[in-house]
Amino acid sequence: MRRVRGKTYDIDRAIAAQWEYCDKHRLPHFAPLGGRCHRCGWNIFEPREYPHGNITGYDITTAASELITCCPHCHTTFCD
Ligand SMILES: [Zn+2]
Repeated sequence: MRRVRGKTYDIDRAIAAQWEYCDKHRLPHFAPLGGRCHRCGWNIFEPREYPHGNITGYDITTAASELITCCPHCHTTFCD
């Protein structure tokens, strides 16, 4: 688990949270198994910090409250 600027990132917990969200709302699950993006190789549930201050990646709260359809780092879609 990692805390970055008030957000909590945890790959295992975020994966579980996204599955729960999809189950609860009867939505298809698009996020890659294990969370690793096939295009950029980053884990979508891992915070990626840029030198100019941006942070990308889905925190646990986002994984529990939004349907994930694309990579937060490279924006490739998982819907295909
Ligand atoms: Zn990516």
